Amino acid sequence: MADVVTMDKIVALCKRRGFIFPTSEIYGGIGSTYDYGHYGVLLKNNVKGEWWRSMLFERDDVVALDSAIIQHPRTWEASGHLAGFTDPLVECRACGQRFRADHLGDLACGRKPSLHPGEGPDCDLTEVRQFNLMFETTMGPVKETGATVYLRPETAQGIFVNFKNVLQTSRKRPPFGIAQVGTSFRNEITPGNFVFRTREFEQMEMEFFVPPGEASKWFEYWTAARRDWYVELGLRADHLRLRAHDAEELSHYSSATSDIEYLFPIGWSELEGIANRGDFDLRQHAEFSGEKLEYFDQGTGERYVPHVIEPAAGANRTLLAFMVDAYDEDEIGGEKRTVLRLHPRLAPIKVAVLPLVRKDGQPELAREIHQTLRARMAAEYDEGGAIGRRYRRQDEIGTPFGVTVDHQSLEDGTVTVRERDSLVQERVAIDRLAEELSARLAAAWRSPKLG
Ligand code: ATP
Repeated sequence: MADVVTMDKIVALCKRRGFIFPTSEIYGGIGSTYDYGHYGVLLKNNVKGEWWRSMLFERDDVVALDSAIIQHPRTWEASGHLAGFTDPLVECRACGQRFRADHLGDLACGRKPSLHPGEGPDCDLTEVRQFNLMFETTMGPVKETGATVYLRPETAQGIFVNFKNVLQTSRKRPPFGIAQVGTSFRNEITPGNFVFRTREFEQMEMEFFVPPGEASKWFEYWTAARRDWYVELGLRADHLRLRAHDAEELSHYSSATSDIEYLFPIGWSELEGIANRGDFDLRQHAEFSGEKLEYFDQGTGERYVPHVIEPAAGANRTLLAFMVDAYDEDEIGGEKRTVLRLHPRLAPIKVAVLPLVRKDGQPELAREIHQTLRARMAAEYDEGGAIGRRYRRQDEIGTPFGVTVDHQSLEDGTVTVRERDSLVQERVAIDRLAEELSARLAAAWRSPKLG
């Protein structure tokens, strides 16, 4: 099936159906920053929920953490972010715009004719300088005397500084992991491509602490497990690939890093990074804090600093990938339809209950059914407008099932269940409906875009 998706169509759908809006729109927006509306919140929650499910509830060697956004500033000295969390920046003396020096080939010069920065007749780029991506603010009531602190650029460091707390209270021993989901901030020089790269975003990170000799094995394990997670949730496997960092690209502390990349409309781009971070982080924080951050095995008498495998994903970027992968257009009875073929577990709404007409007792029965279903799954009731328009609306937000109440429902206690992808309609008894839908939601699902 030809892929009809473009980034513009995703942006338009998000606005039209209330998934995502530009931030502060009535004031003209604030560059590449977005707010999530009703369905955007539900979808993002489902993405994060599925991540938690795979990290916590389907295994017993990972525990949860929720650390503060503002950590002690020494955290960022120890982690190396203060000195080295930088991107190369150039500025154009002619137009005053700033660009990421390593992305010039993907960027447009601010002036006509539209060329890459540095290629126009007037372009006058400065030398490259390193720009620190951390947002700085002041803690305390008086700016002059307050301490300079930073909004975290990743959630991972909050995990490392809590290593001892978690080790002492969780009754876990390596190999074990600490997982966290939360907002991170990066003063990106060139954000863009909708929610792909923004200055404020949510990360889903897990630090897996292992005996040093087992690091390579666990790196392979997590790389495969994380890729499988996307496929299980419906991303087409041929739109995913693994890319190992070469020696030049590797962070100084990492002995191996692989990116899971997705084929976005902007081309292959990183969805998630899996890194073998060695013992760098725990050693740095031990040195800067004076605390021992190690594991003592009482059985063997062995003492060691665990090595760390880190799968680090972005919730917003993942949401974008799921939307892009799910976006489809087809025709029903000569009429064009836009449909989000989301995995049912990710769909913001699982079932819409629709009376065919707004009379003859149909709304009352439909409301009753909605009331029963909403206790089991995210359900929506909609009685406004022609039935075709209501189906279309649900298709666009990715609702896998539509339940229609008609005159027959009042006679024989059955309703029509319409399936989003196949468009098959079946009559189901109202008293079996909740069971039936729950079973269908739990069943294996395969993207119809795979043909
Ligand atoms: P990139 O190369 O795209 O800048 P990165 O390698 O710096 O990303 P990591 O530090 O590995 O990213 O962060 C882990 C994940 O967090 C990324 O794979 C991505 O999904 C997400 N992420 C990072 N930066 C951003 C951003 N500015 N906006 C949205 N998501 C982001």
